[in-house]
Amino acid sequence: MNTIAKESPEEKAAWTESLKRIMAAREAIMKQVERLPSAGKISPCPVCERGELHYTVTSNGHVHARCITQAEEGCVSWAE
Ligand SMILES: [Zn+2]
Repeated sequence: MNTIAKESPEEKAAWTESLKRIMAAREAIMKQVERLPSAGKISPCPVCERGELHYTVTSNGHVHARCITQAEEGCVSWAE
């Protein structure tokens, strides 16, 4: 069963948009991790520019992150 084929163009656009935001947030996190390895958050969030982006980078390089505005504003939240 191919669930992707059932998505409407609007759903596809929304998914592409959320991926772009995740990639932007991830890039900002990786840059900050080089400078401040133990910070654990970026404020203001590079995506919504209002919230605080909290993150964890695991020892194998996976990123878990969530913006505090995710619940009410739909900002980024993901775990790799
Ligand atoms: Zn945010």
